[in-house]
Order: sequence, then structure tokens, then C-alpha cells
Amino acid sequence: MKKPGKAAMLLHEAKESEDPEEKERLGKEARSYIMSRIRGKDTSPELLVRSWVREAGYRYRLNDRRFPGSPDIYVPRLRLAIFVNGCFWHLHECQSTKVPSGASPYWLMKLERNKERDRWNYKKLDEMGIRVLVVWECELRTKSLREKTMEAFLSSLKEMDALAEGKQNEVI
Ligand SMILES: [Zn+2]
Repeated sequence: MKKPGKAAMLLHEAKESEDPEEKERLGKEARSYIMSRIRGKDTSPELLVRSWVREAGYRYRLNDRRFPGSPDIYVPRLRLAIFVNGCFWHLHECQSTKVPSGASPYWLMKLERNKERDRWNYKKLDEMGIRVLVVWECELRTKSLREKTMEAFLSSLKEMDALAEGKQNEVI
């Protein structure tokens, strides 16, 4: 299922607003957001993380619906579910998460619900004996952040791999 994007939210806010100046500002913000998304298409966070997993030599499945939350990437060998989360939609407590002031209660509730659902999914996965790794969009924002995140990510995979040794028959 495709989530309504941040742009959709901004456009919605712009439409609802009764203040012409705010309407204009929100509309502009929505357009520049869409532009930035298009420009960044080839380097989407998910593709980037997927390439790390591939580079490290693991097979993976995408959006496997058998698991809670349909993890973006699932690595059978490590029993590992990887989520690449947009900070806005998953209400990451970081500087990248700026809910527009004056956002309607409807949207705030929607975002809160996303976060609740994440928590529930991670808990369920844990109960199934599946590890969860979350990579946040803000951790990939600059080249140096991407390098740092990749290093940490790959070393976590290596650690998990050491633990997975001898358990390969359990792979699902
Ligand atoms: Zn973040």
C-alpha cells in the first residue's frame, strides 16, 4: 500500500488553510518537496540500504508480507528484518522531523498511529525470533553520515552472522 506522501499532506494543508499567505507558503513548500523527491530518486534510502546488503553478499526479500510490517528488506540467513524509515512518517525524534506548525489533529493522529504500529510490529517480530534493524532517513542525509551508517550497519550484520553460524538449518 502506498502511503500518502508528505507532499500530499502539505497540499492538503494548503487547501484547507483560510489564510492566503499560509496557503501560498504551504503550496510552495509542497512543490519544492516534490522536486527534491524527484531529484533524489536514484539515491533513495531504501535502494542504498539494499545495495549494502547485496554488497555484503546476502540474499534478501523485499516487502515480505508474511512478517509483521512487511519489512522493506528481509535477510533469511540472519533472520533479520530491515526497515528504512522516513523520519517524518515514522515520527523519528530528530531534527529532520518537523511537523508543520498548525498541522491538523487528523494528521498528527495519523503520524502517532504510524509510530504505534511500528512499535507493535517490532515487538511481534521479536517474539517470532526475528531481529529488527531500523535505518533512519536522517542517518543517510550527507555523504559522511552515509559512510558512518554503512560502517555500523555492516558491522552489525557481521556480528549477527557470527551468531547465525550453526543455525542455518533454521532459516525460513
Ligand atoms: Zn530522523
